[in-house]
Amino acid sequence: NTQHELEVALGDRRYPIRIGRGLLDQPGALAALVTGRHALVLTDVNVAPHYLAPVQAALRGKQVQTCVLPPGEQEKTLARFAEVMAVLAGMGASRDTTVLALGGGVVGDLAGFAAACWMRGVRFVQLPTTLLAMVDSAVGGKTAVDLPQGKNLVGAFHQPSAVLADVATLDTLPDRELRAGLAEVVKYGALGDAGFFAWLEDQAEALLAREPAALAEAIARCCAHKAAIVARDETEQGERMLLNLGHTFGHAIETEQGYGGLLHGEAVAVGMVLAARLSAELGRAPWPDAARLAALLERLGLPVALPPGLAPDALLDRMRLDKKAVSGALRLVLWRGIGQAEVVDGVTDEAILAVLDA
Ligand code: NAD
Ligand code: ZN
Repeated sequence: NTQHELEVALGDRRYPIRIGRGLLDQPGALAALVTGRHALVLTDVNVAPHYLAPVQAALRGKQVQTCVLPPGEQEKTLARFAEVMAVLAGMGASRDTTVLALGGGVVGDLAGFAAACWMRGVRFVQLPTTLLAMVDSAVGGKTAVDLPQGKNLVGAFHQPSAVLADVATLDTLPDRELRAGLAEVVKYGALGDAGFFAWLEDQAEALLAREPAALAEAIARCCAHKAAIVARDETEQGERMLLNLGHTFGHAIETEQGYGGLLHGEAVAVGMVLAARLSAELGRAPWPDAARLAALLERLGLPVALPPGLAPDALLDRMRLDKKAVSGALRLVLWRGIGQAEVVDGVTDEAILAVLDA
Protein backbone atom coordinates (compact mmCIF):
# COMPACT_ATOMS: atom_id res chain seq x y z
CA ASN A 1 0.00 0.00 0.00
CA THR A 2 1.42 3.39 -0.98
CA GLN A 3 -1.52 5.68 -0.16
CA HIS A 4 -1.48 7.67 3.05
CA GLU A 5 -3.52 10.68 4.11
CA LEU A 6 -2.54 12.87 7.04
CA GLU A 7 -3.33 16.30 8.35
CA VAL A 8 -1.49 19.18 9.96
CA ALA A 9 -3.72 20.80 12.59
CA LEU A 10 -2.80 24.27 13.83
CA GLY A 11 -5.56 25.41 16.13
CA ASP A 12 -8.53 25.97 13.85
CA ARG A 13 -6.40 25.91 10.70
CA ARG A 14 -5.63 22.57 9.10
CA TYR A 15 -4.27 21.23 5.85
CA PRO A 16 -3.94 17.80 4.27
CA ILE A 17 -0.80 15.85 3.40
CA ARG A 18 -1.53 13.30 0.69
CA ILE A 19 1.08 10.66 -0.07
CA GLY A 20 0.76 8.19 -2.92
CA ARG A 21 1.78 7.14 -6.40
CA GLY A 22 0.22 8.99 -9.33
CA LEU A 23 -1.21 11.97 -7.42
CA LEU A 24 0.08 14.41 -10.07
CA ASP A 25 -1.90 12.50 -12.69
CA GLN A 26 -5.22 13.31 -11.05
CA PRO A 27 -6.17 16.61 -12.73
CA GLY A 28 -9.30 17.12 -10.64
CA ALA A 29 -7.46 16.91 -7.35
CA LEU A 30 -4.81 19.36 -8.49
CA ALA A 31 -7.26 21.86 -9.95
CA ALA A 32 -9.25 21.86 -6.71
CA LEU A 33 -6.21 23.23 -4.87
CA VAL A 34 -6.19 26.41 -6.94
CA THR A 35 -9.19 28.36 -5.77
CA GLY A 36 -8.61 31.70 -7.49
CA ARG A 37 -8.03 32.77 -11.06
CA HIS A 38 -4.22 33.04 -11.08
CA ALA A 39 -1.60 30.41 -10.42
CA LEU A 40 2.17 30.54 -10.48
CA VAL A 41 4.00 27.22 -10.76
CA LEU A 42 7.58 27.42 -9.57
CA THR A 43 9.88 24.56 -10.52
CA ASP A 44 13.44 23.89 -11.70
CA VAL A 45 15.04 22.68 -14.92
CA ASN A 46 15.53 19.12 -13.66
CA VAL A 47 11.94 18.70 -12.55
CA ALA A 48 10.07 20.55 -15.30
CA PRO A 49 10.69 18.08 -18.18
CA HIS A 50 9.30 15.21 -16.09
CA TYR A 51 6.43 16.69 -14.12
CA LEU A 52 5.38 20.15 -15.25
CA ALA A 53 3.05 19.00 -18.05
CA PRO A 54 0.45 17.22 -15.87
CA VAL A 55 0.33 20.20 -13.50
CA GLN A 56 -0.20 22.62 -16.36
CA ALA A 57 -2.84 20.35 -17.89
CA ALA A 58 -4.72 20.18 -14.61
CA LEU A 59 -4.78 23.97 -14.36
CA ARG A 60 -6.09 24.57 -17.87
CA GLY A 61 -8.71 27.30 -17.73
CA LYS A 62 -6.79 29.23 -15.05
CA GLN A 63 -4.32 32.00 -15.78
CA VAL A 64 -1.14 30.06 -15.17
CA GLN A 65 2.41 31.32 -15.26
CA THR A 66 5.38 29.02 -14.84
CA CYS A 67 8.81 29.93 -13.62
CA VAL A 68 11.56 27.37 -14.26
CA LEU A 69 14.68 28.07 -12.20
CA PRO A 70 18.18 26.65 -12.41
CA PRO A 71 18.60 23.91 -9.79
CA GLY A 72 20.45 23.78 -6.51
CA GLU A 73 21.05 25.42 -3.18
CA GLN A 74 23.06 28.22 -4.82
CA GLU A 75 19.80 29.44 -6.36
CA LYS A 76 17.92 29.86 -3.07
CA THR A 77 18.79 33.56 -3.10
CA LEU A 78 17.31 37.01 -2.71
CA ALA A 79 18.06 37.59 -6.39
CA ARG A 80 15.87 34.64 -7.44
CA PHE A 81 13.22 35.76 -4.97
CA ALA A 82 13.19 39.18 -6.64
CA GLU A 83 12.78 37.50 -10.02
CA VAL A 84 9.76 35.60 -8.77
CA MET A 85 8.25 38.82 -7.43
CA ALA A 86 8.72 40.36 -10.88
CA VAL A 87 6.98 37.39 -12.50
CA LEU A 88 4.03 37.76 -10.12
CA ALA A 89 3.82 41.47 -10.88
CA GLY A 90 4.12 40.80 -14.60
CA MET A 91 1.23 38.33 -14.61
CA GLY A 92 -1.00 40.73 -12.71
CA ALA A 93 -1.24 38.35 -9.77
CA SER A 94 -3.85 39.30 -7.18
CA ARG A 95 -4.57 38.23 -3.62
CA ASP A 96 -6.38 35.15 -4.85
CA THR A 97 -3.25 33.86 -6.58
CA THR A 98 -2.01 30.38 -5.69
CA VAL A 99 1.72 29.66 -5.77
CA LEU A 100 2.55 26.01 -6.45
CA ALA A 101 6.00 24.64 -5.60
CA LEU A 102 6.85 21.70 -7.85
CA GLY A 103 10.28 20.42 -6.85
CA GLY A 104 12.61 19.85 -3.98
CA GLY A 105 13.25 21.88 -0.86
CA VAL A 106 14.97 24.67 -2.74
CA VAL A 107 11.94 25.33 -4.93
CA GLY A 108 9.63 24.79 -1.96
CA ASP A 109 11.44 27.20 0.36
CA LEU A 110 11.71 29.88 -2.33
CA ALA A 111 8.13 29.48 -3.57
CA GLY A 112 6.85 29.49 -0.01
CA PHE A 113 8.71 32.67 0.81
CA ALA A 114 7.40 34.27 -2.38
CA ALA A 115 3.86 33.24 -1.42
CA ALA A 116 4.39 34.63 2.08
CA CYS A 117 5.49 38.01 0.72
CA TRP A 118 3.36 38.59 -2.36
CA MET A 119 0.67 41.02 -1.20
CA ARG A 120 1.56 39.98 2.36
CA GLY A 121 0.60 36.38 1.79
CA VAL A 122 -1.23 34.25 -0.77
CA ARG A 123 -2.22 30.60 -1.06
CA PHE A 124 0.56 28.15 -1.47
CA VAL A 125 0.59 24.46 -2.42
CA GLN A 126 3.53 22.09 -2.00
CA LEU A 127 4.12 19.44 -4.66
CA PRO A 128 7.39 17.95 -3.36
CA THR A 129 9.43 15.82 -5.78
CA THR A 130 12.44 14.90 -3.60
CA LEU A 131 12.41 12.55 -0.64
CA LEU A 132 13.83 15.33 1.50
CA ALA A 133 11.02 17.70 0.56
CA MET A 134 8.36 15.02 1.12
CA VAL A 135 9.55 14.14 4.61
CA ASP A 136 10.63 17.55 5.78
CA SER A 137 10.67 20.84 3.89
CA ALA A 138 7.19 20.66 2.33
CA VAL A 139 5.51 20.25 5.71
CA GLY A 140 5.43 22.83 8.47
CA GLY A 141 5.51 26.23 6.82
CA LYS A 142 9.13 27.30 7.19
CA THR A 143 10.13 29.26 4.10
CA ALA A 144 13.34 31.10 3.36
CA VAL A 145 16.24 32.08 1.14
CA ASP A 146 19.93 31.98 2.02
CA LEU A 147 22.47 34.77 2.35
CA PRO A 148 26.21 34.24 1.74
CA GLN A 149 26.54 34.71 5.52
CA GLY A 150 24.19 31.93 6.45
CA LYS A 151 21.40 29.54 5.52
CA ASN A 152 17.73 30.53 5.64
CA LEU A 153 18.50 33.91 7.20
CA VAL A 154 15.67 35.66 5.32
CA GLY A 155 12.32 33.97 5.58
CA ALA A 156 8.87 33.65 7.06
CA PHE A 157 6.50 31.14 8.57
CA HIS A 158 3.84 30.55 5.93
CA GLN A 159 1.87 27.31 5.90
CA PRO A 160 0.84 25.62 2.65
CA SER A 161 -2.83 24.91 2.06
CA ALA A 162 -2.01 21.37 0.98
CA VAL A 163 0.92 19.02 0.45
CA LEU A 164 0.68 16.47 -2.36
CA ALA A 165 3.58 14.03 -2.36
CA ASP A 166 3.48 11.93 -5.51
CA VAL A 167 5.87 9.11 -4.67
CA ALA A 168 6.16 8.20 -8.37
CA THR A 169 8.25 11.34 -8.88
CA LEU A 170 11.01 9.72 -6.82
CA ASP A 171 11.60 7.27 -9.71
CA THR A 172 13.69 9.91 -11.48
CA LEU A 173 15.47 11.26 -8.40
CA PRO A 174 19.25 10.70 -8.57
CA ASP A 175 20.59 8.17 -6.03
CA ARG A 176 22.66 10.77 -4.23
CA GLU A 177 19.55 12.93 -3.67
CA LEU A 178 17.56 9.93 -2.45
CA ARG A 179 20.26 9.18 0.10
CA ALA A 180 20.36 12.82 1.20
CA GLY A 181 16.63 12.56 1.87
CA LEU A 182 17.18 9.41 3.90
CA ALA A 183 19.39 11.43 6.25
CA GLU A 184 16.37 13.51 7.27
CA VAL A 185 14.34 10.30 7.58
CA VAL A 186 16.91 8.91 10.02
CA LYS A 187 16.74 12.22 11.87
CA TYR A 188 13.13 11.54 12.94
CA GLY A 189 14.07 8.16 14.39
CA ALA A 190 17.16 9.55 16.06
CA LEU A 191 15.44 12.51 17.70
CA GLY A 192 12.17 11.02 18.82
CA ASP A 193 11.25 7.50 17.82
CA ALA A 194 13.46 4.53 18.69
CA GLY A 195 10.92 2.12 17.14
CA PHE A 196 11.12 3.95 13.82
CA PHE A 197 14.92 3.93 14.04
CA ALA A 198 14.88 0.13 14.42
CA TRP A 199 12.42 -0.13 11.50
CA LEU A 200 14.87 1.88 9.39
CA GLU A 201 17.72 -0.45 10.33
CA ASP A 202 15.51 -3.26 9.14
CA GLN A 203 14.32 -1.53 5.94
CA ALA A 204 17.58 0.16 4.85
CA GLU A 205 18.03 -2.07 1.79
CA ALA A 206 14.37 -1.81 0.76
CA LEU A 207 14.57 1.98 0.99
CA LEU A 208 17.78 2.15 -1.04
CA ALA A 209 16.12 -0.11 -3.61
CA ARG A 210 13.19 2.35 -3.68
CA GLU A 211 10.58 -0.25 -2.82
CA PRO A 212 7.38 1.78 -3.14
CA ALA A 213 5.60 0.54 -0.03
CA ALA A 214 8.68 1.02 2.17
CA LEU A 215 9.29 4.51 0.82
CA ALA A 216 5.66 5.54 1.23
CA GLU A 217 5.57 4.20 4.78
CA ALA A 218 8.79 6.03 5.68
CA ILE A 219 7.40 9.27 4.25
CA ALA A 220 4.10 8.89 6.07
CA ARG A 221 5.80 8.16 9.40
CA CYS A 222 8.08 11.20 9.03
CA CYS A 223 5.18 13.45 8.04
CA ALA A 224 3.11 12.24 10.99
CA HIS A 225 6.01 13.00 13.28
CA LYS A 226 6.60 16.45 11.84
CA ALA A 227 2.88 17.30 11.76
CA ALA A 228 2.58 16.45 15.45
CA ILE A 229 5.55 18.61 16.44
CA VAL A 230 4.47 21.53 14.24
CA ALA A 231 0.95 21.34 15.70
CA ARG A 232 2.38 21.76 19.19
CA ASP A 233 4.98 24.41 18.31
CA GLU A 234 4.35 26.10 14.97
CA THR A 235 6.92 28.89 15.31
CA GLU A 236 9.71 26.97 17.02
CA GLN A 237 9.54 28.33 20.54
CA GLY A 238 10.51 24.97 22.00
CA GLU A 239 9.97 21.40 20.88
CA ARG A 240 10.24 22.15 17.14
CA MET A 241 13.91 23.02 17.71
CA LEU A 242 14.56 19.29 18.12
CA LEU A 243 13.95 18.90 14.38
CA ASN A 244 17.24 20.76 13.93
CA LEU A 245 19.25 17.81 15.24
CA GLY A 246 22.51 17.88 13.28
CA HIS A 247 21.60 21.14 11.59
CA THR A 248 23.80 23.65 13.42
CA PHE A 249 26.84 21.59 12.44
CA GLY A 250 25.32 20.84 9.03
CA HIS A 251 24.51 24.44 8.14
CA ALA A 252 28.03 25.47 9.15
CA ILE A 253 29.44 22.91 6.71
CA GLU A 254 27.11 24.00 3.91
CA THR A 255 27.84 27.70 4.42
CA GLU A 256 31.57 27.19 4.79
CA GLN A 257 31.56 25.23 1.52
CA GLY A 258 29.70 28.06 -0.24
CA TYR A 259 26.60 25.84 -0.77
CA GLY A 260 28.44 23.92 -3.48
CA GLY A 261 29.85 21.00 -1.50
CA LEU A 262 27.82 18.49 0.49
CA LEU A 263 24.09 18.38 -0.16
CA HIS A 264 21.89 19.59 2.69
CA GLY A 265 20.94 16.04 3.70
CA GLU A 266 24.56 14.91 3.55
CA ALA A 267 25.66 17.82 5.74
CA VAL A 268 22.89 16.91 8.19
CA ALA A 269 24.16 13.31 8.28
CA VAL A 270 27.63 14.52 9.25
CA GLY A 271 26.07 17.01 11.65
CA MET A 272 24.05 14.32 13.44
CA VAL A 273 27.16 12.18 13.87
CA LEU A 274 29.03 15.18 15.31
CA ALA A 275 26.13 16.06 17.62
CA ALA A 276 25.97 12.44 18.79
CA ARG A 277 29.72 12.33 19.40
CA LEU A 278 29.65 15.63 21.27
CA SER A 279 26.77 14.33 23.40
CA ALA A 280 28.70 11.18 24.19
CA GLU A 281 31.84 13.18 25.02
CA LEU A 282 29.75 15.26 27.43
CA GLY A 283 28.41 12.11 29.03
CA ARG A 284 24.83 12.80 27.91
CA ALA A 285 24.49 9.91 25.43
CA PRO A 286 25.82 6.35 25.31
CA TRP A 287 28.73 5.79 22.91
CA PRO A 288 27.15 2.60 21.47
CA ASP A 289 24.11 4.64 20.39
CA ALA A 290 26.36 7.14 18.64
CA ALA A 291 28.05 4.26 16.85
CA ARG A 292 24.67 2.78 15.87
CA LEU A 293 23.58 6.11 14.38
CA ALA A 294 26.77 6.43 12.34
CA ALA A 295 26.47 2.82 11.20
CA LEU A 296 22.92 3.27 9.86
CA LEU A 297 23.85 6.50 8.05
CA GLU A 298 26.88 4.79 6.55
CA ARG A 299 24.77 1.85 5.34
CA LEU A 300 22.52 4.37 3.64
CA GLY A 301 25.53 5.67 1.72
CA LEU A 302 25.84 8.93 3.64
CA PRO A 303 29.00 10.72 4.77
CA VAL A 304 29.67 10.44 8.51
CA ALA A 305 32.84 12.54 8.85
CA LEU A 306 33.74 16.13 8.07
CA PRO A 307 34.92 16.65 4.51
CA PRO A 308 38.62 17.57 4.34
CA GLY A 309 39.74 21.18 4.26
CA LEU A 310 37.28 22.70 6.72
CA ALA A 311 38.95 24.57 9.57
CA PRO A 312 37.38 23.90 12.99
CA ASP A 313 37.50 27.58 14.07
CA ALA A 314 35.82 28.69 10.85
CA LEU A 315 33.06 26.12 11.37
CA LEU A 316 32.59 27.22 14.96
CA ASP A 317 32.23 30.85 13.82
CA ARG A 318 29.58 29.75 11.32
CA MET A 319 27.77 27.85 14.04
CA ARG A 320 27.58 30.99 16.16
CA LEU A 321 25.81 32.76 13.30
CA ASP A 322 23.23 30.02 12.87
CA LYS A 323 19.72 31.06 13.87
CA LYS A 324 19.66 28.71 16.82
CA ALA A 325 22.19 30.91 18.59
CA VAL A 326 20.58 33.10 21.24
CA SER A 327 22.20 36.54 21.50
CA GLY A 328 25.56 35.15 20.49
CA ALA A 329 25.56 32.15 22.82
CA LEU A 330 25.35 28.79 21.08
CA ARG A 331 22.23 26.74 21.57
CA LEU A 332 22.63 23.19 20.34
CA VAL A 333 20.35 20.26 19.81
CA LEU A 334 22.16 17.44 21.55
CA TRP A 335 21.23 13.86 22.09
CA ARG A 336 20.49 11.40 24.87
CA GLY A 337 20.63 8.40 22.58
CA ILE A 338 18.50 6.72 19.90
CA GLY A 339 15.05 8.31 20.00
CA GLN A 340 15.76 11.29 22.26
CA ALA A 341 17.09 14.74 21.44
CA GLU A 342 17.37 17.73 23.76
CA VAL A 343 18.16 21.44 23.55
CA VAL A 344 21.29 22.43 25.46
CA ASP A 345 22.77 25.86 26.15
CA GLY A 346 26.25 26.70 27.26
CA VAL A 347 28.31 23.97 25.61
CA THR A 348 31.89 25.26 25.68
CA ASP A 349 33.85 26.15 22.56
CA GLU A 350 36.53 23.68 23.67
CA ALA A 351 34.07 20.78 23.65
CA ILE A 352 32.76 21.72 20.21
CA LEU A 353 36.23 22.26 18.77
CA ALA A 354 37.26 18.87 20.10
CA VAL A 355 34.69 17.05 17.95
CA LEU A 356 35.37 19.31 14.95
CA ASP A 357 39.06 18.51 15.25
CA ALA A 358 38.79 14.73 15.66
P1 NAD B 1 16.75 20.49 -4.11
O1 NAD B 1 15.49 21.21 -4.13
O2 NAD B 1 17.98 21.18 -4.55
O3 NAD B 1 16.58 19.17 -5.01
C1 NAD B 1 17.65 18.31 -5.18
C2 NAD B 1 18.00 18.09 -6.65
O4 NAD B 1 17.12 17.13 -7.23
C3 NAD B 1 17.91 19.31 -7.54
O5 NAD B 1 18.96 19.27 -8.48
C4 NAD B 1 16.58 19.12 -8.26
O6 NAD B 1 16.56 19.77 -9.49
C5 NAD B 1 16.52 17.64 -8.42
N1 NAD B 1 15.19 17.04 -8.45
C6 NAD B 1 14.15 17.34 -7.65
N2 NAD B 1 13.16 16.47 -7.84
C7 NAD B 1 13.56 15.60 -8.80
C8 NAD B 1 12.95 14.47 -9.40
N3 NAD B 1 11.77 14.02 -9.00
N4 NAD B 1 13.64 13.84 -10.36
C9 NAD B 1 14.89 14.25 -10.72
N5 NAD B 1 15.51 15.30 -10.17
C10 NAD B 1 14.85 15.97 -9.20
O7 NAD B 1 17.12 19.90 -2.68
P2 NAD B 1 16.27 19.18 -1.52
O8 NAD B 1 17.21 18.22 -0.94
O9 NAD B 1 14.96 18.72 -1.99
O10 NAD B 1 16.01 20.36 -0.49
C11 NAD B 1 17.05 20.96 0.22
C12 NAD B 1 16.59 22.31 0.71
O11 NAD B 1 15.50 22.14 1.59
C13 NAD B 1 17.65 23.07 1.48
O12 NAD B 1 17.69 24.39 1.02
C14 NAD B 1 17.16 23.03 2.90
O13 NAD B 1 17.58 24.15 3.64
C15 NAD B 1 15.68 23.00 2.70
N6 NAD B 1 14.94 22.47 3.84
C16 NAD B 1 13.89 23.19 4.30
C17 NAD B 1 13.12 22.71 5.35
C18 NAD B 1 11.92 23.48 5.81
O14 NAD B 1 11.36 23.15 6.85
N7 NAD B 1 11.49 24.48 5.08
C19 NAD B 1 13.41 21.48 5.92
C20 NAD B 1 14.49 20.75 5.43
C21 NAD B 1 15.23 21.26 4.37
ZN1 ZN C 1 17.14 19.70 7.07
